[in-house]
Amino acid sequence: MSNLNLKSDFPIFTTYPDLVYLDSGATSQKPLSVINAVANFYTRQNANIHRGVYQLAEIATEIYESTRVQVSKFIGANSDKEIIFTGNTNQAINLAAYGWARKFLKEGDCIVLSEMEHNANIVPWLRLKEEKGIKLIFLPITKDFRLDYMSLQANPKIKLIALTHVSNVMGTINPLKKIITFIKKISPEAKILIDAAQSAPHLPINVQELDIDFLAFSSHKMLGPTGVGILWAKEELLEEMDPLLVGSNMITTVTKEKATWAQVPDKFEAGTANLEGVAGFSAAISYLQKIGMKNIIAHEQELIKYGLQKFRELPYLQIYGPATEQDRLAIFSFGIKGVHPHDISQILDRQQIAVRAGHHCAQITMQALGVSATARASFYIYNTREDVDRLIKGIETIREVLKI
Ligand code: PMP
Repeated sequence: MSNLNLKSDFPIFTTYPDLVYLDSGATSQKPLSVINAVANFYTRQNANIHRGVYQLAEIATEIYESTRVQVSKFIGANSDKEIIFTGNTNQAINLAAYGWARKFLKEGDCIVLSEMEHNANIVPWLRLKEEKGIKLIFLPITKDFRLDYMSLQANPKIKLIALTHVSNVMGTINPLKKIITFIKKISPEAKILIDAAQSAPHLPINVQELDIDFLAFSSHKMLGPTGVGILWAKEELLEEMDPLLVGSNMITTVTKEKATWAQVPDKFEAGTANLEGVAGFSAAISYLQKIGMKNIIAHEQELIKYGLQKFRELPYLQIYGPATEQDRLAIFSFGIKGVHPHDISQILDRQQIAVRAGHHCAQITMQALGVSATARASFYIYNTREDVDRLIKGIETIREVLKI
């Protein structure tokens, strides 16, 4: 039995002792250490970075740059220069799309996506399709809610494969090592981008071991503040990429005729960054490392096993996701025949159980599943078996309330 019981580290659960928070897939709650790091930045460290030659500015710069090093170690990057601070995963993927793909891909080139992508990893590529005539290939979802990557045909026009590590709807973990080995066999030149928004909070990631080219994720889903995201890319790619935003802090010289770009990574970070957010993100990574990613996944595996077992006892419940705990996270999309997911969410909310309802910014996944919306309960390190029990009891109440 996992003995992780972390609720007391998260002040929101002191404010709302009966809250069962099951929407961590959308954003996670924050531990006190992260909240304190943000407050501490404002009370003791606040100044703008890189510019000032006074002590406070140096302290603020040190926090920002040491977080870059911390993030690079967290994902096994080769150098901290490969870490670009963005606002979130959306911005990170837009930077790869605009800065790399828009520059190097041409009409007729193919980008491989999947039907389990979040809109963040579809819409930037749709825009390139419109703008440049790039073709998109969507890998299908199997009947057991896995990715059918073996159906991909070899094609020299494939220049990029952009895949989510974990489905934000079904909880499916894509077996990246196997998928990447397969891709390298059939399309050795293709670059690989992984959307780790749902995986980085739960699973250890090593970009060098995975042998990928781009990785995108967000601080706010992994205990850190909102407004901070990461694009990791191989240094040689960053060197040749265009910046997405241009302006201050990202130049070396500006004349009336022309500006020249600063070195990587500064070239990609125009304007003043979310400095207090980065300080909070550093505390979030430290917290995750203190608990240990292995302990986190072990704890969540138990919740998955227990959750699936309990769901099986409710035959009227439709689960849109893998039926076994293997290669899945504790993200459970579900439906009840004849009940709209918004009603499910509202009736659960009356019992202080927070789940999300809707298309989860994944309309293509919804189409593949043949539904317009689902209810989704997504768990994280602070959730417990009692939370699973409360959810099950809450779901049973729905049928009583609606008399079905
Ligand atoms: N990708 C996936 C798989 C996601 O689940 C999300 C957030 N729901 C995003 C991208 C977008 O993250 P953000 O809103 O932080 O940009």
